[in-house]
Amino acid sequence: MNQATAGQERIAIIGAGASGLALGWLLSRAGKQVTVFEAAPRIGGLARTFDWHGIPCDIAPHRLHTNDVDVLNAVRALVPLREHRRHSRILMRDKQIQDPINPIELLMRFPPATGFKLVWGFLNRPKLPETSFEALALNRYGRGLYDFFFEPYTKKMFGVTPAEISVTWGREKLRSSGLLDVLKRQSKTFFHTFWYPQQGGYQAILDAMQARIRGEVLLNAPVSGFDLDHAGRIGAVRYRQGGEERTFACDRVFSTIPATYLARMFGEDLALRFKRIQLVYLDIAKPEVMPYQWVYFGDGDVAINRMAEFKHFHPDLPPTDHSVLCAEVTMDSDHAESDVIQALTRYELIRPEEIRDSLVLDEKFGYPVYDKGFEDARERAEALFGRFGNLHCVGRNAEFRHIETDEDIASAADCLRGIYGTDSISLGA
Ligand SMILES: Cc1cc2nc3c(=O)[nH]c(=O)nc-3n(C[C@H](O)[C@H](O)[C@H](O)COP(=O)(O)OP(=O)(O)OC[C@H]3O[C@@H](n4cnc5c(N)ncnc54)[C@H](O)[C@@H]3O)c2cc1C
Repeated sequence: MNQATAGQERIAIIGAGASGLALGWLLSRAGKQVTVFEAAPRIGGLARTFDWHGIPCDIAPHRLHTNDVDVLNAVRALVPLREHRRHSRILMRDKQIQDPINPIELLMRFPPATGFKLVWGFLNRPKLPETSFEALALNRYGRGLYDFFFEPYTKKMFGVTPAEISVTWGREKLRSSGLLDVLKRQSKTFFHTFWYPQQGGYQAILDAMQARIRGEVLLNAPVSGFDLDHAGRIGAVRYRQGGEERTFACDRVFSTIPATYLARMFGEDLALRFKRIQLVYLDIAKPEVMPYQWVYFGDGDVAINRMAEFKHFHPDLPPTDHSVLCAEVTMDSDHAESDVIQALTRYELIRPEEIRDSLVLDEKFGYPVYDKGFEDARERAEALFGRFGNLHCVGRNAEFRHIETDEDIASAADCLRGIYGTDSISLGA
């Protein structure tokens, strides 16, 4: 039975991750009732937190860093946040180097031949037509830095070469115009500080949104399809709960699930690819493994992309004699855990006998991959979903945009303002 009161718009939200909960919270602030359907037995999606050996663990490091003052203030009003100074490094060719890359350090710390290639490459940057991420990276940084970092890291992250990745990836992610900006550390990517909840893990932000929702959040309630009304709009959501097929009659639906999943509910296949991430958690028998919140591994032959040590996000935790790491692996591997242990041993961060426990989580929808030509498939998705008039897609995987929670929240607010008007939807106090 629908919970909405008579005369109120009946609103369904699919997914209780950051986007679904942000939509529910903002709609509730606007006086509306919502019903949120979540397939999993818990909220949070990719921004969830779980306790493991007494330490709050996120799905890889989750940090709030945003240039959007309205979003930041809104989140700060939801939950007490602490500002942390960023401590991170890049591990590469058996050295620890500054993050973001500092070209002067590369010149000083690597053999002269490497330094020569970096400088020569930069001074002789080509002017290629920007038809791929490869062309963009070569034009901005030159062959030396491309071979040194961009090619191996991109291959590791996406499983294909930068030549097969869309230039849109570079334009969105390398939010600097060249080496000078890298040196000056300007851009959203090169942040010095970030925000994190004072208590609990990153999910504390989502818990606070959920607590403010007017209506209900149904767990273990996967949506499987829709019924259309006589006008061709979505008239009801079909979902399963307690082993039964149910329907929820609605006037409007917000979907935050991956675009490819949603398309399949309408019998369509989209040529959009997501990268799976394996997260390898290790409980290590020493109080601290490294003095950094996270490190990147730049080498193409090291399975880890990035690794976090969660203790550094929780300065108030009582001292412990052990510490939990989380390594992200996007290389296709059937032995991610042993690959991670091998890499950490190579970099002398741990010894195998120090591992007290391990856990591997598999996230099928880790990153939207901007393969060349993905823009056409994304436009097709927009046209497909747009034809119903009352179906709206919000969030990283639903919109197929490589965004973070601050942008998910901003996107939720923008979408709602487009429907209900700027005056009805506010992030402000
Ligand atoms: C490795 C990694 C690191 C990240 N680091 C950061 C960071 O530092 N800072 C930051 O701000 N962001 C970060 N992000 C991004 C952030 O996690 C996402 O932007 C955000 O969690 C996306 O939220 P969402 O609600 O759009 O999607 P999701 O979190 O994917 O939520 C979708 C929800 O829908 C549910 N669902 C799926 N199918 C159905 C169905 N049929 N019916 C009902 N429910 C369904 C899922 O169970 C899930 O709970 C990171 C992401 C990853 C993968």
